[in-house]
Amino acid sequence: MLRVLVLGGTLDGSHLAQALAQAGVDGIFSYAGRTHAPIVQPLPTRVGGFGGVAGLQAFLLAEKITHVVDATHPFAAQMSSHAVKACASTGVPLLALERPAWQAQSGDAWQHVPDIAAAVQALPAEPARVFLAIGRQHLMPFLACAQHWFLLRLLDPVVDSVLDLPPARGHVVLDRGPFTLEGDRALLQTHRITHVVSKNAGGVGAQAKLTAARERGLPVVLIGRPVIPARPTVSTVNGVLRWMGVVQSY
Ligand code: NAP
Repeated sequence: MLRVLVLGGTLDGSHLAQALAQAGVDGIFSYAGRTHAPIVQPLPTRVGGFGGVAGLQAFLLAEKITHVVDATHPFAAQMSSHAVKACASTGVPLLALERPAWQAQSGDAWQHVPDIAAAVQALPAEPARVFLAIGRQHLMPFLACAQHWFLLRLLDPVVDSVLDLPPARGHVVLDRGPFTLEGDRALLQTHRITHVVSKNAGGVGAQAKLTAARERGLPVVLIGRPVIPARPTVSTVNGVLRWMGVVQSY
């Protein structure tokens, strides 16, 4: 009998939960707890860290989990690495549901950088108006660049006073993807953006800003994905269902 743990945090993870619920598969959905109003899932849901590899191992055994699907964001490297270790030691099969990375096309002016620090360095010395579409965890090194103006798109209201940007330093937009091309075109135009900084998340939900940047000929600083230990990976929900031997119903 199947009992699946879905490590969520992406649109794909939510689609998988819907598919599992529709197929009548028993499972638990897990959120890190980063956002105040996470999407409600059609599976029983837990929130918060497991307590490292040992905590996840104990959880898998206590909950009699038969399959783990890692549908976390490609930049959630610690969770993904813990899943590889905990599954290997408990013998629970693990599959990653991961979108392919974005690839540049004609007209793109992308500068590839390996990490956050390199992305900060890649911004120009002269004042720029930067659309910083990287979530909220790594904003400080950018905001320390006092010459730039920043457009931040975040999921939750900013409670950290240090991010309480005066209008002269930036602007915060609260929104949840998927984002539209029309909407992102308007953001770039309204805020006279000169540079875009993004993680290479892949998928369609956050891609519109790259298309809008291409249309306007804007440079994009694209942060490469962190290295995660090798694990079997698929890019579609149907791929996950096939792996579990669940008849495709979605
Ligand atoms: P991370 O650095 O890989 O994870 C840090 C710790 O958070 C993990 O060790 C784990 O704690 C806990 N955790 C992460 N994902 C979890 C999950 N789905 N269920 C239970 N615990 C989880 O991850 P992160 O970058 O902080 O991202 C946290 C969540 O936000 C992920 O679920 C990810 O999908 C989502 N997210 C991340 C990004 C990003 O750019 N990083 C973007 C969009 C969404 P323990 O060690 O205590 O188990």
